[in-house]
Order: sequence, then structure tokens, then C-alpha cells
Amino acid sequence: MTLRRILPGAAALAALLFALLPLASPAPARRPRARLASSGAIGGSVALRDPSRPAPSEVRRRLAVSGAGTYINDMLVERDSALSRWPDRHGAPLRIWIQNETDIPGWAESYAVEVRNAFLEWNAVHLPVRFAFTPDSTSADVHVAFIDHFDEEISGRTKWARDDDWWITDADITLAVYHRDGPILDDDAMHAMALHEIGHLLGLDHTTDSTSIMAPRVRVRALSRADRATARLLYSLPPGGVR
Ligand SMILES: [Zn+2]
Repeated sequence: MTLRRILPGAAALAALLFALLPLASPAPARRPRARLASSGAIGGSVALRDPSRPAPSEVRRRLAVSGAGTYINDMLVERDSALSRWPDRHGAPLRIWIQNETDIPGWAESYAVEVRNAFLEWNAVHLPVRFAFTPDSTSADVHVAFIDHFDEEISGRTKWARDDDWWITDADITLAVYHRDGPILDDDAMHAMALHEIGHLLGLDHTTDSTSIMAPRVRVRALSRADRATARLLYSLPPGGVR
């Protein structure tokens, strides 16, 4: 994972890059933990807590009650005990633009269909964030683009940004058509990669559970019960640190 400043200063957004390792890759390199500045800590000042926001102790209590059957604890280990997610959208969908033509040899329209179906599969989880599609890239909230291959040992990447309160504000996905070592991805693999990257887009992180789509090396082709449960739990909690 790469941490990159988009804007200077305390109000800076942190952009997080998530990489999906391909199915046949060697052991994945562990991503370095992000060190993210909090505006409340600068100069010794104290951040005022939003009174409508549950205290970390209350969030920990909810995690203890509802964490079973999820991999939220795996995520907290990867994320320095903090959660990020989109604000509730109150019915307004995130507008998704999916690239539907490229010069990449072997690229097929069926890839765009698989990506679209992956978004619809996540819609069926009924989170407070849902997706709709737009052919207009300029008005889209999220862009999904294809690349021939990555030079790294990955097949997909999601870049998202958050604000100082850990709300996700922006995200884009890039998906490779070819594995770095040559083979082209089939439609099922593209679908699985898209499910995984949309999971990152939603704020999910990797799990050690290889039967879930959020395993760092994706081995399954559909969302697991744990994927759904973890996303639902994430979207029942406020973002931010839980320690
Ligand atoms: Zn990943």
C-alpha cells in the first residue's frame, strides 16, 4: 500500500492504494501500515468529539457483540485499529463509470459486463452505499479502467481518499487484462477481481480467510457470508479509530 498526500496540511486527504495479488503469485509482500495524521493532534490541540458519534469504547463494545462471523479484526490489524467507509448516501447512489472500449489486445466487452455484475452483487448486500452506472466519465464518482498489465505482481488496484474523519471521499479502480507473467484473465477471474476491488472501494481490507473474496490472493469467485457480514458491520459503525 502506498500512502500519498494529495493536499498539504492538516486537512490533507490520504490516498490509499490497494493491490490485489494474482492467483498464482508467490507469498504476498505485507503492506506497510499507513501512518495517518489526525488534525486533532496537531499542536497539542484537542479534537472536539462529534456528540452524535459513538465513543471508541462503544464501538469496541459493538465489535465484541457483532464481530463474530466477520473479519473486521483482520482489518483493524492492517489499519492501525481504524476503520474507513463512505458516509451513508441516503439513497443517492455512487455513480460508476466503467471503461467500455480500449486498445488492449484481447480486451473484451464481457470484462465490462463482469465488472458491472460485480457492482450489482455488492448492491444486493444492501449497504447504505449503493451503485448506479453512468456512461459519462466526467460526472462519475468512481472510475473503473482497464490496463494491459501491472508491472507489479498484482492484477487490480483501488485508490481511495479519505478525509480527516476517516470518511472515504473518492475512489477509482484499475483492473489488468493480463497477469504480469503473461496469461490473459478469463471472465470469471475478472469478476472476482472486480468484487475484491469493490470491497476495497467500500473500505474493506484483506482477511486471512481464503474462502472470502477479500483474501489477498483471491481464490473464490463470489462474495462469502463473511464478506457480506463484514461490510454490513463496517457500515453500522462510525469510521475512525477504535482504540
Ligand atoms: Zn486487495
